[in-house]
Amino acid sequence: MGGINAVQRTSTYLEKVEEKDPEINSFIEINPKAIKEAKQVDEGKRKGRLAGLVVGVKSNINVKGLRATCASKTLENYISPYDATVIERVKAEGGVIIGMTNMDEFACGSSGETSYFGETNNPAALGRIPGGSSSGSAAAVAAGFCDVALGSDTGGSIRNPSSHCGVVGLKPTYGLVPRYGLIDLAMSLDQIGPISRDVYTLALMLEVIAGYNPKEATTLKVSKKEYSKHLNSDISGYKIGVAKEFEKVTDPRIMKIIKKSLKVLESRGAEIKEIFLPNLEKGLPTYYLCVFVEFFSATRKFDGRRYGYRIEEVCGKEVLRRILLGKYISQKEYSGKYYKRALQFRSLIKEELLKALEGVDVIVGPTVPKLPHKLGTEIEDPLVMYGYDLLTVPANLAGIPAGVIKSGEVGGVPVGLQIQAKPLDEQKILNVMFALENS
Ligand code: GLN
Repeated sequence: MGGINAVQRTSTYLEKVEEKDPEINSFIEINPKAIKEAKQVDEGKRKGRLAGLVVGVKSNINVKGLRATCASKTLENYISPYDATVIERVKAEGGVIIGMTNMDEFACGSSGETSYFGETNNPAALGRIPGGSSSGSAAAVAAGFCDVALGSDTGGSIRNPSSHCGVVGLKPTYGLVPRYGLIDLAMSLDQIGPISRDVYTLALMLEVIAGYNPKEATTLKVSKKEYSKHLNSDISGYKIGVAKEFEKVTDPRIMKIIKKSLKVLESRGAEIKEIFLPNLEKGLPTYYLCVFVEFFSATRKFDGRRYGYRIEEVCGKEVLRRILLGKYISQKEYSGKYYKRALQFRSLIKEELLKALEGVDVIVGPTVPKLPHKLGTEIEDPLVMYGYDLLTVPANLAGIPAGVIKSGEVGGVPVGLQIQAKPLDEQKILNVMFALENS
């Protein structure tokens, strides 16, 4: 970012946040030291690949001195005593953290409406949900309040709001990006990833946060990659898998837009191949059973003695539902009936996706099967809300990477294209996105 004045850049963003965020509600807290940190960049005291880039951070990632509330009353006064590994890396490369973004409470949601700090509006389609759970991160990027944001994705929380807000987002391969310092939703599925307005910045942020962390057993020991340097929009010869099953579950208006993007990819020399994902719809119940059990376990530390309040006493409806269901399913006498079965299906879904990916470079399709609803719509049935996640959860269950880029609009509402690939094939996803961006 050579030559760009970081203080100027940061203050421009801060002014914009002050003026426009009351309507969007994408930030929970602004970093009071943002200008000071930007100054250090201008003085050459902080250098690196992100020098001067302004970064928003989802409120479930620890940034020392700022609050990591998970948008819950449970942690409303919890100030992070340390930096998550991804934050250490962002700071070491000169990134300027502007603040903590709004989200669904404890990342449980697909709409951005369950935050204790109020719902977030969609800057790309005002009056509609921005999607979730990284609602504030996607909305802040879409509204032009920062250059790039970090989100977390357990079952689609980076990709779903990226799709609804018309920005680019990527959920990395499980284990590529350290989770140390991320407050868990379901730790066998959670991944931190970037959201941005352009593919280059997305690739740059990914290469900064990715890589082995000796503090954690689940990070992969793979060599560092320079995704931004290797961006290549020449995708001729790429084999692109498309499943009939996508069409069966997706709003035809969304499919129409997605098909246009497929034509664009074909015109750039990619070859479309049909693939089969007969178990696609089993992903949703499998995912939610896994999440309930893992989330129940993860929340036992919020007992009111160590951090904030006892979660069950102050949390919202959805979080409570998950805790109670997780508790029920975890009982010894039920484990075989629900959880073990869910794990069996999880293996099946993973096998199916990896097998489909053997014959192609990427799988391309819609991100969310339906359009984002209008804010204020009462959705009583949780299954209706869970339905938003149908197409995103398989990637988490399989641990594969998946990115989203805007494909088009339906009546002014953005629609995102989802690109999934084999483990550690992030570069291919980014290249397909780059090709679309440059079409
Ligand atoms: N919407 C999904 C859920 O509610 C995904 C959440 C996420 O990825 N954090 O669990």
